[in-house]
Amino acid sequence: MMTLLALGRSIGPCAGLCALLAGAAPASGASKPDAVAPDTTRATRVVMLGTGTPNADPDRSGPAVAVIAGGRAYLVDCGPGVVRRAAAAAARGIRALEADRLSIVFVTHLHSDHTVGLPDLMLTPWVLERRVPLEVYGPPGIKDMTDHLLAAYAEDIRIRQSGLEPEKSEGYKVNAHEIEEGVVYSDSNVTVTAIAVPHANWEHAFGYRFEARDRVIVISGDTRPSETIARACNGCDVLVHEVYSTKGFKSRPSVWQRYHADAHTSTEQLAGIATWARPKLLVLYHQLFWGVTDEDLVREVHRGYSGAVVSARDLDVYPLPAEKAHPKKR
Ligand SMILES: [Zn+2]
Ligand SMILES: [Zn+2]
Repeated sequence: MMTLLALGRSIGPCAGLCALLAGAAPASGASKPDAVAPDTTRATRVVMLGTGTPNADPDRSGPAVAVIAGGRAYLVDCGPGVVRRAAAAAARGIRALEADRLSIVFVTHLHSDHTVGLPDLMLTPWVLERRVPLEVYGPPGIKDMTDHLLAAYAEDIRIRQSGLEPEKSEGYKVNAHEIEEGVVYSDSNVTVTAIAVPHANWEHAFGYRFEARDRVIVISGDTRPSETIARACNGCDVLVHEVYSTKGFKSRPSVWQRYHADAHTSTEQLAGIATWARPKLLVLYHQLFWGVTDEDLVREVHRGYSGAVVSARDLDVYPLPAEKAHPKKR
């Protein structure tokens, strides 16, 4: 809870998201999203649906990122709040994120903060008239998870299909694909490659690389520093990477320090990864602040890395528009 308390003190409740919803600039200058722009571009973009962690921060939904390519939304992870954050982005003009169009998700690993929104993603869009099954790609175990969720909601599905509710399609169904590293999906918009990453004692955890016609986007998932992510990026357009504060880490109990060092990546370590990976834009997400601010995190990374860095908030859209793409060095 330290993260939530620290955020509450530093930027106040709802600061980033409320500023976005009001169409105003964020409370601080760490990132300046273009989520208010109408969705007229076909350019590939990243929409930060949820930048949070297990901390129940009301301003940061659970981890979920959307890559928008060719007018379709490809989700990565489904933390709590995913469908409502997608609806918020759709209301700002990104129509690919309308609920009935959410039809594919790539799960990085089975930690609950990344998957608690899976039943939401399976069922809510169906109730809102998605007519095709949800395609779910993820590590071994994802099929069991979706099977158990369908069993848990069997009565809901039966009642909706047998009563007066008009939606009778099979859009509640799930096609679960258990994957290994390598190319896992390809269509006319994107080729998606799963990148094996080290994350505490998980046997299977992945980042994902999206190669679209115009851009390459890499999303780390949860990982300690990994050369596989740097290699997958290799000059990519956007590297979305998890991070924790090097300064805040020092205040953590030693038992938690051991875990975080095994599971996640510090700002100092990420500076090294980014120097190797050379992304055009480095986007911090799944941030563990432990008392520091977005601006502090960016400063910490800039101690060892001179490229463009932003600390994301929910509903940010990247890359930034050209006129905002060269943030001042701090
Ligand atoms: Zn996580
Ligand atoms: Zn995790």
